[in-house]
Amino acid sequence: MPDLSTSLANLETTLGPERIFTDLATRNLYASDETPHQCIPQAVCFPRSHDEVLLLVRWAYTNSIALTPRGAGSGNVGGALPAPDSLVVSFECMTRVLEFDPDNRLMVVEAGIITDEVDRLARSAGLMYAPDPGSGAYCRIGGNLAMNAAGPRCVKYGATRDHILGLRAITGDGREIRTGSRTSKYATGYDLTRLLIGSEGTLALITEATLKLIPAPEAVATLRLCYTSTRAACEAVIRVMRQPIVPCALEFMDARSIDALHAYGDVQDLPAGTQAVLMVEADGDTHTLPDQLTSLVRALEGPGLIESQSGFSKDEIQHLWTARKSLSHAVKRIAPRKINEDVVVPVSQLADLVDAIDRLGHRWAVPLVAFGHAGNGNLHVNLMVHADNTDEMARAAACRCELVETVLAMHGSLSGEHGIGSEKRHFLPLEIEPNTLALMRQIKAQFDPAGILNPGKKLPPTP
Ligand SMILES: Cc1cc2nc3c(=O)[nH]c(=O)nc-3n(C[C@H](O)[C@H](O)[C@H](O)COP(=O)(O)OP(=O)(O)OC[C@H]3O[C@@H](n4cnc5c(N)ncnc54)[C@H](O)[C@@H]3O)c2cc1C
Repeated sequence: MPDLSTSLANLETTLGPERIFTDLATRNLYASDETPHQCIPQAVCFPRSHDEVLLLVRWAYTNSIALTPRGAGSGNVGGALPAPDSLVVSFECMTRVLEFDPDNRLMVVEAGIITDEVDRLARSAGLMYAPDPGSGAYCRIGGNLAMNAAGPRCVKYGATRDHILGLRAITGDGREIRTGSRTSKYATGYDLTRLLIGSEGTLALITEATLKLIPAPEAVATLRLCYTSTRAACEAVIRVMRQPIVPCALEFMDARSIDALHAYGDVQDLPAGTQAVLMVEADGDTHTLPDQLTSLVRALEGPGLIESQSGFSKDEIQHLWTARKSLSHAVKRIAPRKINEDVVVPVSQLADLVDAIDRLGHRWAVPLVAFGHAGNGNLHVNLMVHADNTDEMARAAACRCELVETVLAMHGSLSGEHGIGSEKRHFLPLEIEPNTLALMRQIKAQFDPAGILNPGKKLPPTP
């Protein structure tokens, strides 16, 4: 077998020298994602089309070289963290809209397109692309597909998996596949589309996707509610999700999140005694929206409500969402490192979950910050730590394990939207029983027999 530099030279000849970078500066740029870890890849490759990805995967398969697919590197679980000695495949040069078909409410795009750009284009024809991750301004559709990304609107509209009609992809042994169809109904063959979505680049490299678009709502209204405790806010969430009007966002922030936003300078003063805030949004047509709001407010009122505010201007709404979306970075004011958990529980358990988070924070003396998509029972629980404080890191590790056990005991799950990556895979056997896990390993072997696609991610190490 040729050595790596000879193999890379062959690849350069096939794809062109401007597609492959081996200089240290470029490799450093692609050595990490949102996690604090780093691994410098052997090279970074920038294919421009499905056909170039195909050549690349076939080359990697022949030469037994691991590939780490990458969108924007905004993932929080080490999904795009390069495997040792791997070559990063960046999709940032594959950003074309291949087809926009408003009549059939679909758009065919390359994997590297930025998520918000898809939504912007859809809206030009009165449609929308529903999944709205907080990172939508810079993350890429391929990364969203690989992680089954979600966002605030998903409480009403569902996550990425619910908005994809079909995919074009390349398996680890260089087979081109197409999944799904262009129709809104489909009952043919196994549903490989849903299998590849959320597979975190371990089964195939996704090159193109057919996205399902839906009519954009005529009007949107936003409410902000302040509560005396996290439990009171979460009980309000449970009441909302029990009644028939589904909001298009139902976001929760605890007191530490609010403090972090204050320190970040991104939130106006809240009434005294506020320990938790809900941001609630409803959408629909202008005639029925007021009735929707009345029903939602009725459910949101209850013990512990301090203030309910509505009637925000467009600018104020924009500001509220900018603040909410900056939380992920704002919390770093509390401590330089965050261990980011993304747990999800059945929504009726949410109030018990916030109580448990409070208890765990006290028990292990680790500041925990919780915020997120409460309508789905999905909270981002951030353990704020100092990496050089070994005692604190040990307490945080114990706290994290107990949090996972607590969530699983509530019939919840390790991840609502961020995925597993390299950061959480050791927890997987706690949630997925051995037969199911064994079947998952067999599926991986079918798609990627040489194990070159994103090794060290998603599945736990083989026992
Ligand atoms: C401020 C902030 C807010 C966020 N908010 C949300 C949120 O609201 N909801 C949410 O779900 N997530 C959120 N995230 C997490 C992250 O943005 C999402 O997981 C997003 O989908 C990652 O997209 P990316 O393009 O950055 O992918 P990357 O991080 O580059 O990659 C993610 C995974 O996808 C794989 N991959 C990338 N492209 C392909 C491809 N073409 N084929 C196969 N595999 C591929 C990678 O190998 C990796 O495993 C947030 C992150 C930040 C920093």
